[in-house]
Order: sequence, then structure tokens, then C-alpha cells
Amino acid sequence: MKAAVFYGPRDIRTEEVEIPKIQDNEILIKVKACGICGSDLHLYKLNMFSPVLLRPLKKGGIPGHEFSGDVEKVGSKVSGLKEGDRVVAFANGGMAEYVPVPFIPPALEQASNIIPIPSEVSYEEAATLEPLSNSYHAMMKGNPSKGDNVVIFGAGAIGLGIIQCLKALEIDINKLIVIDLSDHRLNAAKEFGADEVINASKNNPLLKIMKLVESVPLPLMPTLNLPKVDVIYDCVGYMKQHKGPIVLQQAINMATPITGRIIIHGIFEDNISLDLIPFIGKQITIMGSFGFNPDEVKKSLELLQTKKVDQSKIISHEFPLDKAKEAFETQCNTDESIKVLIKP
Ligand SMILES: [Zn+2]
Repeated sequence: MKAAVFYGPRDIRTEEVEIPKIQDNEILIKVKACGICGSDLHLYKLNMFSPVLLRPLKKGGIPGHEFSGDVEKVGSKVSGLKEGDRVVAFANGGMAEYVPVPFIPPALEQASNIIPIPSEVSYEEAATLEPLSNSYHAMMKGNPSKGDNVVIFGAGAIGLGIIQCLKALEIDINKLIVIDLSDHRLNAAKEFGADEVINASKNNPLLKIMKLVESVPLPLMPTLNLPKVDVIYDCVGYMKQHKGPIVLQQAINMATPITGRIIIHGIFEDNISLDLIPFIGKQITIMGSFGFNPDEVKKSLELLQTKKVDQSKIISHEFPLDKAKEAFETQCNTDESIKVLIKP
């Protein structure tokens, strides 16, 4: 079968490899669509996270954990699945014609790692269930509530997913502000319902936000007024190639005192240094967010099925497996792409 094999930074090759043989507790999936994740880019550029992002081969490994397809073969110890079922599976190696997936039986009324796709959801949309579930999880962690001002740094698949989840759940927030460096992505944010967008390469986000939201006094120093930014989602983290101010520092500087909360989903490509005095002085909360729980997957899938979330709008490019390298380069170019899919 054909597969995209990762060997090292910027070295991904489409090659002929053996079709995987499955164990009794595994299924084989014929892949229909596989997304390139932000984490796959950290792998592609810097060889980060290779043990957790690849299905290892004797040499190199196959990335791809955001995929959908048809069940091709079912191991003898697997129950509840049959050949031809349309599924999403949470495993690695999706950038190939076939991928073996261990079957983890569902706990009571909870989804397993293999999820049947409802007929209303296309393979392409289903391939975005994993990032959407990540967005849902991050969104919930911030506990956005009626009247809150919400800022999202990063209008990639995760940030746009958070916007869509906020809208779909009809959380009555006051202002939703999205910050990115790409006008193309900011336009998408607007389309999904952001109230304001800020291109951080042209404007200072903090100064702009002070004009957009009301201000509140700093406790103990009531002469100092700060913007009322209740929830901030950092869907950027730190990328070595970006020379501007660190997003987490900007988030700390703009969060509202006491109740302000920052949720970090973006990955950091290096250690960073921060001024934490405003973090302490304002007594704000910073939380990490990673992955999702089975209930959030179920809810995210319902949002796709009921069309309350339209992930087809974030899919900007589709490439065949033969063009895996081009697909990764396109995903790296944020001025052009949002979510790139590889379709074996
Ligand atoms: Zn992912």
C-alpha cells in the first residue's frame, strides 16, 4: 500500500509499504481522509513528538491521527463492528491507504476509540472530529458564561472550532475577539461569527482590545484600569519562527483581574520566559488543555450531525497521498491554508 513516511524534519516521502496485518483485537481501516494536525507540523518542522504521533515502521513512521474511513477487516476478538462500517478512529498512521487500530471496548454508554460516523457526516467532516473534540474540550475548560468577553489567539482549526462551539451552544457571551497574523484565517473567524478580529502584525492587540471592551479597576490599585477580558484561549503556543511577543504573555497582560482565565492549547516549541508579575497581581488562572473525554467526542459528533457546526468550511485543501510533502508545506503556510486533508 501507499503511505506517507516521515524520516526527519521536512523529510516526508510517499512510499510503498506492507499492508498491516491485524491482531485479534484490532481492525483494519481503509482510510478515506486524514487531516494534518498542528502537532503534525511540529513533528514535520522540528521532529517533535515522534513517539506519540507516528505509527512506527522499521525505518521512519506514518503520521496521521485525524482520519476517517471504512472498516476493511475485523479481528476475531472485536465486537460491534463489521466490514464496511464508516468510522473515525483515534490512533496513528492515518496517512496511508490502510491503518490498523486496536479496539478498546466502550465503557458504559461511552464511546470507544472507534466511532461510527452517522450518514449525515461526510468522511472529510468526520476527519475533523478529533480537532473539533479538542476545541470543545478547551472551550468548556474556560467556562465561558453570559456577558463574558472572550479572546481567541489563533484562528486555525482549533480556534475556529472554539468559535463554532461557542456559537452552537448559544453561550451568550458579550464580545468574541479573534487574533491571528493571517487575514485569510481572520476572515474565516468573521464568517463563523467573531465580533472583532485583530491582525497582530498590523495592530497591538492589547491597545485595540482596550478600545473594544469595558475596563475594570485593579483591586488594591483602583486607579489602574484594565480591560475586562474574561476568557482567553491560547491556540498558538510558541513557534520558533514567530518573532513577535509571546501570546501567553499577551494573554496574561490582558486578562481581567481575579476571574480572568487563560486556557493554553497551543504547543510550545521551546522554553519561554515570562513576566509573571501581572499573573500574580491580578490573581488570574492559567489552565492547560489537551485532548477530550468520550462525552465531548459524542457531543462534537452531534454538532457535526445536526449541522450546528460546519467543519467543511475549515477544509481548505485536499491532496492525494502522492502529494503528502506538498500537503504538509501547504499546511505550514497559514496565509493560504486552514485544514489540509490527505485523501488516499
Ligand atoms: Zn490533532
